[in-house]
Amino acid sequence: MEKDGLELPLSSIFDGIYRMKDDIPNFKMLIGGKWRGAQGGSQFDVRTPIDGSVIARAQMAYSMDVDSAVTAAQENRGIRDLPGIERIDIFNCAAGLLEQHKDEFARVLQMEAGKSTRDAAGEVAATVHRLKLTMEEAKRIFGEYVPGDWSHDSVGKMALVIREPIGVVVVISPFNYPLYIASAKIIPALLAGNSVVVKPSSSNPISALLLVRVLEAAGVPEGSLNIVTGKGEEIGDALVKHERVGMINFTGSTPVGKKISQLAGMKKLHLELGGKGYALVLEDADLDLAAQKCVIGSFKFSGQRCDAVSAILAVETIADDLCDKIVREVDRWKFGDPRDESVMAGPMINPAAAERIHGMVTDAVEKGARLLRGGKFHGSYYEPTVLDDVPLSSMIAHEETFGPVVTILRPKDEDEALKIARQSKYGLESCVFSRDFYRIWRVAKRLECGEVTVNDYPAHGVGYFPFGGIKDSGMGREGIGYSIDEMTNLKTIVFNLEAGGLGKREQAAATYKTGVLRKAETEPDKGE
Ligand code: NAP
Repeated sequence: MEKDGLELPLSSIFDGIYRMKDDIPNFKMLIGGKWRGAQGGSQFDVRTPIDGSVIARAQMAYSMDVDSAVTAAQENRGIRDLPGIERIDIFNCAAGLLEQHKDEFARVLQMEAGKSTRDAAGEVAATVHRLKLTMEEAKRIFGEYVPGDWSHDSVGKMALVIREPIGVVVVISPFNYPLYIASAKIIPALLAGNSVVVKPSSSNPISALLLVRVLEAAGVPEGSLNIVTGKGEEIGDALVKHERVGMINFTGSTPVGKKISQLAGMKKLHLELGGKGYALVLEDADLDLAAQKCVIGSFKFSGQRCDAVSAILAVETIADDLCDKIVREVDRWKFGDPRDESVMAGPMINPAAAERIHGMVTDAVEKGARLLRGGKFHGSYYEPTVLDDVPLSSMIAHEETFGPVVTILRPKDEDEALKIARQSKYGLESCVFSRDFYRIWRVAKRLECGEVTVNDYPAHGVGYFPFGGIKDSGMGREGIGYSIDEMTNLKTIVFNLEAGGLGKREQAAATYKTGVLRKAETEPDKGE
């Protein structure tokens, strides 16, 4: 079958995790240490956004497969029994394997997600980097010694507060960073001693399957890491409600995140959800810088980023100048087939995503926005688009865009810009462009979101800074050390030291109470 150079590069390390059928790799799932098919025997197609052709098939798991995976994870806590130093060895080995296979991973990301060559390579590099930094942070899972003598209630006691793994962590990841986001959850979960069941996006599960293979090859103990593929709508409930699951670590859309939080009961939740990133460009901003950064923030990976610049709030006095500069920047961007190395951004994940964006653009234009560039699509490819003078009544002024659209609103001043941003139901990230420190501080403090970037577009990079949302953008924080904290529970162990004749004693406190100063304060004045 002619596949127009869209074959997946799969070297021998990946033997055994797929079977070729009609020239297409059919991937299996890792459950309890064995790569196997779904119990129902069915599969689904994985299509590349590049031209819509089928590049792979994955197992269509149902609830019985979920049950097998969760049970395997719960019964195989081998990762927890390994000394930390051995866990580090495993992840060092995994980092080496990822680096050795980085070109394959990048190519798979390009095929399954439609990433530009640069974005695909960047995602692999960030994954390796994050893995290494997380290993460093894992060495600092210590805990605390808390002396009891600061309260009468606990005099004579002390406590050790330790961090313990939660148990089984379910990782559910989205399509937009299929390797990086999955790894940013799996790696800290395992390093902290949890066992894991991963459910990648069914749009592009391949890089997550390959990552799991790399971790298995590096020595993660059998059963501690499992992966099931299948449709979220079908198996989501089974994963989220399973009584042996201790935590759900989910990244994806707000509606799915809300559904998960309703079903999860008392399980620990970490939810990284949708966002509406506003860029506030104030009168004293460096407009060249703001235009350049806002366009990158809007167009990187065709806008399919939770932290994309989703609307620019350009205060009236500078809006004309900024808009001219933005259009000049936009014209430098080359969109198209991501296999062309000069292309900076490729297609949407599928034609339905392009249609959804078109609905928002059309709505804005019908309500009075000026369409300065783009506004059309062909299959999954949405043209780089610029909308100016977008009215507040339009959907795109408030809803997550997730497409390559520069959306410009023209508030009167800083206060009006802040009012628009603060009214958002989302609270993930925003950015502000200004040269005035006090103004920046005022705006940053008043914005209602998890992160504010100053004079740049929001981006996570390798996750060195903590990241996460408030309001409809979720709960919990991701980041090199923060993810480990999220995926461990605090346990307090209190020791009564009195029995050993140790620790401070109430008697000592009594002596203090009768000390000279206190005596003078409390004894009646005899008038001598
Ligand atoms: P999505 O449709 O919510 O899917 C995310 C994951 O959830 C997929 O694995 C999906 O499986 C699964 N899923 C779907 N229905 C489910 C259910 N009922 N129960 C449990 N799991 C279910 O999101 P997406 O389109 O892949 O990703 C884009 C969204 O993710 C955007 O809203 C973006 O802002 C958000 N995101 C947020 C962050 C952040 O850090 N805050 C980062 C990246 C992306 P299927 O693929 O099989 O449906």
